[in-house]
Amino acid sequence: MSVETQKETLGFQTEVKQLLHLMIHSLYSNKEIFLRELISNASDAVDKLRFEALSKPDLLEGGAELKIRVSFDKDAKTVTLEDNGIGMSREDAITHLGTIAKSGTADFMKHLTGDQKKDSHLIGQFGVGFYSAFIVADKVDVYSRRAGTAASEGVHWSSKGEGDFEVATIDKAERGTRIVLHLKSGEDEFADGWRLRNIIKKYSDHIALPIELPKEVAAAEGEEKPAVEWETVNRASALWTRPRTEIKDEEYQEFYKHIAHDFENPLSWSHNKVEGKLEYSSLLYVPARAPFDLYQREAPKGLKLYVQRVFVMDQAESFLPLYLRFIKGVVDSNDLSLNVSREILQKDPIIDSMKSALTKRVLDMLEKLAKNEPEQYKGFWKNFGQVMKEGPAEDFANKEKIAGLLRFASTHGDDGEQVVGLADYLARAKEGQDKIYYLTGETYAQVKNSPHLEVFRKKGIEVLLLTDRIDEWLMSYLNDFDGKSFVDVARGDLDLGNLDSEEDKKAAEEVAKSKEGLVERLKTALGESVAEVRVSHRLTDSPAILAIGEQDLGLQMRQILEASGQKVPDSKPIFEFNPAHPLIEKLDNEQSDERFGDLSHILFDQAALAAGDSLKDPAAYVRRLNKLLVELSA
Ligand code: ADP
Repeated sequence: MSVETQKETLGFQTEVKQLLHLMIHSLYSNKEIFLRELISNASDAVDKLRFEALSKPDLLEGGAELKIRVSFDKDAKTVTLEDNGIGMSREDAITHLGTIAKSGTADFMKHLTGDQKKDSHLIGQFGVGFYSAFIVADKVDVYSRRAGTAASEGVHWSSKGEGDFEVATIDKAERGTRIVLHLKSGEDEFADGWRLRNIIKKYSDHIALPIELPKEVAAAEGEEKPAVEWETVNRASALWTRPRTEIKDEEYQEFYKHIAHDFENPLSWSHNKVEGKLEYSSLLYVPARAPFDLYQREAPKGLKLYVQRVFVMDQAESFLPLYLRFIKGVVDSNDLSLNVSREILQKDPIIDSMKSALTKRVLDMLEKLAKNEPEQYKGFWKNFGQVMKEGPAEDFANKEKIAGLLRFASTHGDDGEQVVGLADYLARAKEGQDKIYYLTGETYAQVKNSPHLEVFRKKGIEVLLLTDRIDEWLMSYLNDFDGKSFVDVARGDLDLGNLDSEEDKKAAEEVAKSKEGLVERLKTALGESVAEVRVSHRLTDSPAILAIGEQDLGLQMRQILEASGQKVPDSKPIFEFNPAHPLIEKLDNEQSDERFGDLSHILFDQAALAAGDSLKDPAAYVRRLNKLLVELSA
């Protein structure tokens, strides 16, 4: 036992305590994953060493082979993992093994429900890492030394996984980390060579470094104990360098869990090798679930970058556009320099062409998923649809492809689920329909019942119903799909083109002519509130409607801009009325100018309410309406 100095006891960060508690109580059904997590950390530590050693070869301290060793002691009931990676200093151990550095941790903790089943899913998304040791151990000792520091600067970290941990400074001859798990009673099954070998084969075969276990050898004659011989139990080659046909689905899935820190299998993946002018391999994954921090700016995103098999950078953001930030994976380039930096990546033209190729790969993979696994694609859309909607604005070149991946609610569904693709929409469009109709609004209930849909319902024409906050903004970037232009049914003078018969059009013109007097009277009554008054041909049941001017901001955009404190140009709606409605007939016959004025304002305000807008003068509306009600009951 080496001498321990400067011993101190420190408390875990609150979040760590909560996480530990949860982990111990909710991950009991799949305890063996602790080994995968610890091996994954050891592998990351070796990757880091290899990378730092590129500029500081001294760190390799003589250059022993980089590897991970797992051993056990049946009598002492311990499992030990040892790596010769980058290691930790005393300060490293205190911060890395006492706090959680991930952005949004506190937020994440708030999502926990106390329901163990649900929470274990959440923990899965969060990634448990080192602390998973406490699933099987009631005491964990970590002995470590940071590469490049003196042997006297080793650290011993020790904890029972409760409220606190101890650290002391020790001598450690070899750099790297040794973790000793003192198994809980009842968990000694893990102190077994076969068991450990099987777990390593199952979860960590893809780890690119050798993972060694002691071989059972008989003692030589005259010796009490056999000499330990080590044996590599994993395949120990980088997964993405192997030919696709030789890789099993399970291997792809375990590799995903390693790089993504996810517990669940991915939905899909795409593995490619590019040769020619540029040479690189890529392995890209679509996760099954959105990370809890998908919408946080500083959340991790991007791919793991390797240059000629050497790990260079985590979260290399320059290889995919922002709207594909949920994609996980690896790129391994033969063209980049080993000392490439984030700044260089941003400017390098090689990266641009890799980015557009990788983007296309992802979009192709999603197209395939949508086509072959529509149920899975539904799940994908629920999780990532909102982010995909950022695509058309960010990625002009792939606009049409992205549009094909979008999913919407529509009048042809009944529950507001976003399942209708534009290709489906066009495939069942009415004969002669050369437009894609849509309506935006705040909620599904509101748009579903909007008077704007009346004529479409009558003619059986499908309308897409868009109620995500981002939708109006999205539609400002989409002009057409498959040669058919998008038409907002609440906007401008609705022209149904070929869908209206010649007779319909003639009849409409005649009605409009006969109502010219009423139009003028309404213009006078409504005055400054409206840009225009006209006879509507989109109404069958409602008396009136407000249409948005062709160039004006829609309600959603206006509300978003106003909420963010921006000044929004004032725009007036167009008042359209339904000449066949009894209220309009009544209005037309109204002799008193005062009552005509009241009734027109009430109709105007009602139309605003039906569109989900708020009234400029709600008190005036109530006063006018009550006045009419009193007259009615008199
Ligand atoms: P994560 O790996 O997701 O960052 P962990 O809780 O698994 O979270 O580990 C926390 C940190 O502890 C790691 O990021 C790393 O800095 C450090 N660490 C864990 N295991 C090792 C190891 N074997 N060698 C060096 N550092 C390690």
